[in-house]
Amino acid sequence: MLAKDDIKAQVSLGEIVQHDLGPPVRRSGHWLIYFCPFHANTRTPALGVNLETETFKCFSCQVQGDLFTWRMRRAGESFPDALRYFQELVAKPGYSPPIVREKHSKNLMDGPPSRKWQQRGRAFLQYAQQQLWQHESGLQYGLDELFRRGLQASTVLTWGLGYNPAWISDYPAHWGLHHQRQDQKIKLARGLVIPCQNAGTLWYLKMRVFDHQGKPVAGKDGYGKYLQPTGGKSTLFGGDHFSGKPVLLLAESELDALLAWQEARAWVDVATLGGAGKHLHPAWISQLLSYRRILVAYDLDDPGQRGAHRLAQLSARLEVCPPPEGDLCDFQSQGGNLRCWIKGLLQQ
Ligand SMILES: [Zn+2]
Repeated sequence: MLAKDDIKAQVSLGEIVQHDLGPPVRRSGHWLIYFCPFHANTRTPALGVNLETETFKCFSCQVQGDLFTWRMRRAGESFPDALRYFQELVAKPGYSPPIVREKHSKNLMDGPPSRKWQQRGRAFLQYAQQQLWQHESGLQYGLDELFRRGLQASTVLTWGLGYNPAWISDYPAHWGLHHQRQDQKIKLARGLVIPCQNAGTLWYLKMRVFDHQGKPVAGKDGYGKYLQPTGGKSTLFGGDHFSGKPVLLLAESELDALLAWQEARAWVDVATLGGAGKHLHPAWISQLLSYRRILVAYDLDDPGQRGAHRLAQLSARLEVCPPPEGDLCDFQSQGGNLRCWIKGLLQQ
């Protein structure tokens, strides 16, 4: 059964509220504005539903919360009842399309980022590539970490990775994001820079965040392991390097995908959705139809396996194949032979 966070990743609060209350009185940016159903008032629409944070708040009676709070309040249900309600909702094949996935398709359907975003992204990427190969901290920290993960220089060059030696804050307008508040700067993390390009288009930049000592952060110190500058759009990472193999290996992260590509591209094509919680958008399915088998080699941990099993429900072609150790990079760096392991999967 899906846990709370899985439900929240798949069900949009905005859709649920519109289902319950009908169309909003008005829209304002990423807010839907309604008359609050939790207090008696027909004069001022005081309830705001924030489509970005997936939360609601009444500015009059102060009721607020998330998807689950909404259901518990509206239906007078306990948390376990609300959880069960959404589990059943998501499981219903006929009812799922309008509700499920809307959140994830939202930023996919509008295509790649603007030209201005891509220009700024490419300028930053070029800087980061120079830093990686020509400057001390790039060589010492960036390349060192990539080599530690088992990547070869030719792989790093082919995929255009870079290293940013210090945090940078940039104005959203420089990235073509004129509608965003200009004091909410675009953050570019210290660390590895991974460009996701597809057919000459830059879709997103992903950064593996490093601490001030030049080591990858563990992801527990208040900021995450990964960061993406605002305005990037999801896509299938790896699609540019598909070469018509009968089998696709789907890795959990970009760096795992690069390692698998380096080791096993003679037998399999490799891609990633960019995270265990990411969904397979219908727009990418056409790119996957030609594969006889799709091996989902997500991390051995709970989020990885939850994500892998969720994907595998989509089609019998998808098979869950966790690596013997933590993730693909761990497996290789702890002495495992990724090439042999993948070859073994193909013979099964
Ligand atoms: Zn209210």
